[in-house]
Amino acid sequence: MRTIEQIFINGEFVTPHGSEYFDLYNPATAQVTGRVRLADEQDAERAIAAAKAAFPEWSKTSKAQRIAALERMHAAVVAHHDELLEAIIDEYGAPASRSSWMACYPADVITQAIAALEAFEFTTRTGIATVQMTPLGVAGLITPWNSDAGFICGKLAAALAAGCTAVIKPSEMSALQTQVITKALSEAGLPPGVFNIVTGRGETVGEAISRHPDVAKISFTGSTNTGKAILRNAAESFKRVTLELGGKSPTLILDDADVAQAVPLAIAAGFMNSGQACVAGTRILVSQSRKAEYEAALAQAVAAVRSGDPRDPATEVGPMVSEKQWQRVQGYIRKGIDEGARLLAGGEGRPTGTQDGWFVRPTLFTDVTNQMTIARDEIFGPVLSVITYRDEAEAIAIANDTLYGLSALVLGRDVARAQNVAQQIESGRVLINTLAHEPKAPFGGFKHSGVGREMGEWGISAFMEPKALVSA
Ligand code: NAD
Repeated sequence: MRTIEQIFINGEFVTPHGSEYFDLYNPATAQVTGRVRLADEQDAERAIAAAKAAFPEWSKTSKAQRIAALERMHAAVVAHHDELLEAIIDEYGAPASRSSWMACYPADVITQAIAALEAFEFTTRTGIATVQMTPLGVAGLITPWNSDAGFICGKLAAALAAGCTAVIKPSEMSALQTQVITKALSEAGLPPGVFNIVTGRGETVGEAISRHPDVAKISFTGSTNTGKAILRNAAESFKRVTLELGGKSPTLILDDADVAQAVPLAIAAGFMNSGQACVAGTRILVSQSRKAEYEAALAQAVAAVRSGDPRDPATEVGPMVSEKQWQRVQGYIRKGIDEGARLLAGGEGRPTGTQDGWFVRPTLFTDVTNQMTIARDEIFGPVLSVITYRDEAEAIAIANDTLYGLSALVLGRDVARAQNVAQQIESGRVLINTLAHEPKAPFGGFKHSGVGREMGEWGISAFMEPKALVSA
């Protein structure tokens, strides 16, 4: 049993004012593995004051000084890779392929931020004006439980590159990896107050940060509902906001796609991070003319997906992060059945051999209409829906008939045609015949999937304000 007792404010590990403890679980066993003492509003206040005091100095640092600081952060995070990997497996039950990617991602996003900072133009000329990019001030960085260390490092690296200082509010469900990443970052030799990490509840610490008049910017990743609450709270003091929210991504399989190539990609897109990914491709759109062929191939592939012990290298799908999330996903599977969708694989209950943890059977529905609840809501579990279309125009209309617009996957043999379809999809990112991630590209959502963009130069300028100096 581990107890995490400290938060990080003004360059020091300190005991929080908050006295509530939050239990930590291993989702693969549903056993309590430790607890974390949560910060409260007073701790948020202290962290914001420290970040505010550190801002004048940090905002004056040169590009070279910031690059050097990010390089030290990178080295410190790399040095803690193995501990981070253990924490990710213990607290999320992410299977080996996913957890090894997640453990490298924090260092990778810092590398990307360094490259973006090297190329970043802080001063440009237009006509008789000089445009200076100026840092906004104290940034509040609020992160979700899935891939938390990666989001902490990505947001922090971009904020520091811009010249902002930061108060980070990680998810309370990620306390183990937050502890590892905080220790790593504390070893990077950054000036006190430049970053502060306060793990606490959203309703207390998260609200305090998003309402506070001394916080100029909120960068949030999490659910669409929380994003709305943050936007409302931030409005009072006109905070700049970047919101990375939920998704209900389509995988549009064109009628000329090769079934043997399309099916593994569709399954991998849908079951990414055990279905607990904002970009998961949960609506699989197939042509009416090839329905039977795809149903058979997808059903066979889903039935073969290995669910279970995250430490078994053969495991492809791990448990849900919490019992609450397990119940929620079960509710959606029930709802799918009740609304008339037909199960092709999986269903309610736990997969065989996984009695203890919060495991869900990898599930595939067909005869789904785009109006059904399972096609509209973000389920955040391994539950996929096959929806048929008559022609390309209808396929695009179905893909776009959603409140979300974070990611989409288009699969087809004729690449020019697939690219043409991709142009018509309302989404911040469209992948064509690949699941490869391009970290230099902007990342963010259309519609209810978010506001603004992260990564690359877009990620840095999101923490800045352009200022025009005009002289005749
Ligand atoms: P969540 O919205 O419940 O929580 C996210 C963070 O917000 C947590 O730190 C939480 O404590 C905090 N929070 C909760 N209420 C708050 C409030 N009123 N004010 C301020 N902060 C508050 O999300 P989650 O369950 O941790 O994460 C899953 C969600 O995140 C999914 O919807 C997923 O799609 C989304 N997500 C989006 C992206 C993206 O890049 N677009 C990436 C990963 C996850």
